[in-house]
Order: sequence, then structure tokens, then C-alpha cells
Amino acid sequence: MRVEFFGVRGSTPCDGPAVSRYGGNTSCVVVEAPGEAPLILDLGTGLRGFGCRLEAQGRAGGFEGAALLTHLHWDHIQGLPFFGPVSTGGGALDVYGPRFHDATLSEAFAGVMCPPYFPVRPGELAGAVRFHDVGSDSFAVGGYGIRSGWVPHTGPTLGFRIEVAGVSVVYVPDHGSAFGRGGEGTVPQAVIDLCAGADLLIHDAQYTHEEQEAKARFGHCTVEYAVEVARRSGVRGLALFHHDPAHSDALVDALAALASDRAEHAGGFEVVAAHEGLVLGVSARSGAVPSVPAAAGATSR
Ligand SMILES: [Zn+2]
Ligand SMILES: [Zn+2]
Repeated sequence: MRVEFFGVRGSTPCDGPAVSRYGGNTSCVVVEAPGEAPLILDLGTGLRGFGCRLEAQGRAGGFEGAALLTHLHWDHIQGLPFFGPVSTGGGALDVYGPRFHDATLSEAFAGVMCPPYFPVRPGELAGAVRFHDVGSDSFAVGGYGIRSGWVPHTGPTLGFRIEVAGVSVVYVPDHGSAFGRGGEGTVPQAVIDLCAGADLLIHDAQYTHEEQEAKARFGHCTVEYAVEVARRSGVRGLALFHHDPAHSDALVDALAALASDRAEHAGGFEVVAAHEGLVLGVSARSGAVPSVPAAAGATSR
């Protein structure tokens, strides 16, 4: 399975030389298995870049695709009206995501994509967006087998497990936990079940311990907790994701080194800090997360 990162930042987009290497766009990942349509994970500002990619490759016309949406926070939805194949092209996108209490996913989107917040309503895009309410479920999108499960964050939030041809990728971008500095604490069994034995886990890694203590109500976790979820779930590769907008490239480097060191002591799974443009070739055979040049991936299709 080919996994490409178009936005890796959490909370809000950011810009400037201090964050240029990892990138400032918010959550958007695209997975694609041979013979299958691309499957989008979250609709953050990185989605715009994926639309530009499709247009550059001549794949935007008549686009038909699907997206798995973890929750409705701004950093996970703002890219939708800027996704060219649907916003100005005539494509169609099926979006699978959670209801917000009494509101269906469609109603929740209609409540934020409308004046005065935004001038264009979902139904006024040139293409079609079809919303599908998902809870703790199993369903199929094309040849992808999907499992969705609730993850502790703030408000109804899902994580997704995607399986195709024996390869599994799990996406848990926003996951709150007050895990102790010394590693004391629990990982919810439902999260472990969702992640169990995955070839790649893409997981929240937003905070240092100090930040987590000060911002616990925002529903994110430490890098150490991400490693602990990976260890207890027996995954084969971990991608640190949803980097804090205040974290410089140098700090993300340092947190990645810390996570790699911990992972080595915890059983030897591989760790990578996701950055915009990173492409991972994930296979069940190797269990590794080797990166391939983005350009090579782009020209192979
Ligand atoms: Zn988020
Ligand atoms: Zn969130």
C-alpha cells in the first residue's frame, strides 16, 4: 500500500522557515493500493495539494473517490472546499465520518460550510459530496476493508483501520491521554484492538510532557504515549503525526529521535516522523516502512 502525507500538522496550519521541512498543512493522508482508487484520510488543508497533484497528473476529471473523516475539528475539514476535483471539477467524493450528537455528518458540515463562516455550501460545490454517518463499524470502500472505532479526544472522534491484500494501516491522528512521565497509565483496549498488529500506525504525537500537562483538555498525547500505543498493539511501524504548530523542525527531529530510541528498546518497530511529501511503501512482508521518493511514486501512476 502506498501512503503519502499531504498535511501532517495538528490544530492549525502554520508557515515559516522553522517548520518548512515537516510542513505546515493540517491532516491529510492518501493511501492507495494497486488497482484501487485513492482513499483520503481526513480533509485538512493538505487536501488542496492532493487535488493539485491529481490535476497535474490529468486524474482530476471525473474524479470518484472516498475519504475517511475522523472528526469535525477545523484542522480536519478545511481542505474540502479547496479540493479542486470536487470544488471546481465535476468529481464526486464519498465522505465517511462521525455524527455530532443529534446532527448527521451532512448536517454538521452544512452548519460550518455556510455564511457567515464560508460562502459556499457543500451542495454548491461544482462536484458532489456524499456524506455517510459512521460509528464503531466495519464496512468496505472499493477493495479496502475499513474498521472504525471511537478514540478518546474531545467530542466524537474515530480512528480507522484500513486493510487491503493483507496489508493494514491504522490512522489515529487525534488521541488524548494523560499518560504519566514514567510510562504509567493505560491505553484503551478499544484502541489496542483497532491497532493490533498493524503494518503501519499513523498516530497523534503532538506534545511534550510539559505541553501535555498544560493542555490536557485539548485531547492530544505525548510522543512517548504514541510509542506506547504502538508497543502494546504490536504494530510494525509507527508514523508520528499531527505535529504541534509551535514545534520547529528541530524539535520534531528531537522527538522523533526520542521515539526511535524508545521503540528500539520496546521491540524494534520502526519510527518515522511524517512530513509533507513523505511516501511510504507499506507491505505485510517486510513490516518496514521504507520511504520511496515522492517523484518516483508520482510518475509511477
Ligand atoms: Zn486535529
Ligand atoms: Zn481534533
